[in-house]
Order: sequence, then structure tokens, then C-alpha cells
Amino acid sequence: MKIEELLCLGNKVIHKDQTKLLLSTLLNMNPLELSLHLDEIVDSEITTKFQECLNSLKNGEPLQYALKNSNFYGLDFYVDKRVLIPRFETEELVNNTINYLQKYFSKNIKVLDLGTGSGCIGLTLKYLNNDLDITLSDISNEALEVAHINQEKLGLDVKIVYSDLLDNIEDKFDCLISNPPYISYDDKEITDLVLNNEPHQALFADNDGLEYYDKILCKCEKYLNDKYLIAFEIGYNQEEKILNLINKHLKDVKVLTKKDMAGLPRMVFIFKNIEINE
Ligand code: GLN
Repeated sequence: MKIEELLCLGNKVIHKDQTKLLLSTLLNMNPLELSLHLDEIVDSEITTKFQECLNSLKNGEPLQYALKNSNFYGLDFYVDKRVLIPRFETEELVNNTINYLQKYFSKNIKVLDLGTGSGCIGLTLKYLNNDLDITLSDISNEALEVAHINQEKLGLDVKIVYSDLLDNIEDKFDCLISNPPYISYDDKEITDLVLNNEPHQALFADNDGLEYYDKILCKCEKYLNDKYLIAFEIGYNQEEKILNLINKHLKDVKVLTKKDMAGLPRMVFIFKNIEINE
């Protein structure tokens, strides 16, 4: 079929801008190029993929699951329903963390990405600094399968460990980074697109969404060196409660909260035995 015909087909099912975005992604073109090549014949493999994606989108699936791809920090990650779709806020968590690691640590830096899902955090850190010693862990074996696919796809050397939080972790780390599930079960703002598609195990947490921060903070020092950095993504309304949890579990630490691009406090960094100068 021609590009023009596929666009027509798509426009009957989804919004025309979405059709363009979908087809241009599949063809590795930008939307303008599409418009300039309307008569070009699309090969049958991509035509089939396009039709499959249309069906998924029609059934209310997110575009990233339909494409089996999500761009994170400029890298292409394989994603499907087994894992959370990486979010833009999480790119900021990675960006700040890589800067802190480079600024405050020297060599043989060991990092644990707890609740790795697709592997986007730990694998991106490894991509940015190949000297880091990275372990990815998750309680979901299905998620670890996806993390493994991404490890192979990106050709990065990391360890992948099954663990219920820290239970199976044997090493000691310089940095623990996590974007744990933090949505409270009674959250009213969550959209149907998220609720009906993404794994609930990766989204929700008890205790007003604080369950996993509490559990991690309670046990983490056993798995960390004397000097450490903990980097958490948090819900936009959780800053104060998380600061209280940090006070409850950790002594002599310095804590920095950072706002994301939307101006919301979405990242917490905990430093132990580090002279921070920000
Ligand atoms: N670490 C993954 C991410 O940030 C998965 C997070 C999760 O499943 N809660 O996308």
C-alpha cells in the first residue's frame, strides 16, 4: 500500500495527527517527509505492523505498547504490558543521579536499580558511564524478562537479579536508585489509559503510596557502603511524608529535594558521608 492509503486507513480509526506520528515512527521518517512521499509504497511488513498498531490503539492501548517501543533519554527501550512505560520525570532522576555520581564518587561505583521494570534507569546509567557497576532488580520475573531484552538490545553489561525489594540482594552499593510504585490505591487522578493497561504492581502502593519507601529506607543501610547516595522518584504530593520517613529511619544524612521541569518536587536525594556543595 501507498503511504497515502495507509494514512487514510488510519484516519478512520484514530486522530489524523496520531496516524502521522505512528506511521512516521514505523517508517523512521519525520511527519513532514511522510507528506512529501505520499505515493511511496510501504513494504508489507510495515503495513502489517501499522494495522496491528491501529487495532491496539483502537482498543485503548498506549502508543508505546502498540509500537513495543518507548524512547527514554534518547535510547529506544522495548516495552510491553509486563512493564511500566518509562516517564519523562524519570529521565530527570537519571540525569541528576549521573551528575551526583560523577561529582561525589570516584572509581568502581556500584549502583542498584531497585524495581527496574524495563531497566530504563539502570541501563541508561550504564550507557552514560560504562565504568559503573550496575545491578537491576525486580520482584516481577516478567519485568526482568523485559529488562533482559533491553540489556541485549543496548548491548550493556549489567547484572540482573530477582529480588523482593532487598531480600535477595547480597552486595553492598554506593548508590541505590529507585522509582518504586507510589500511587495510592484511592488516587482519583490516574487516567483510564494507565489504569487499564499498565501493570498495577508497578503503580500502586499501600500506606498512601509510601509503602515501598518505608520498607526500603528501613533496611537499605545494610546494603549500602558507609558513603552512599539514595535517589528516589516520588509522587508530587509526597515530599513531606517522605522526609519524615527519612528522619525515622536514617541518621546523619543530608537530603535534597529537586523539582521536575513542571516545577513539582519529584526527586529526593539522600547523601551519607558526602560533603555536598550545591
Ligand atoms: N524503574 C522503572 C521505571 O522507572 C519501573 C518503575 C516501576 O515499575 N515502578 O520506569
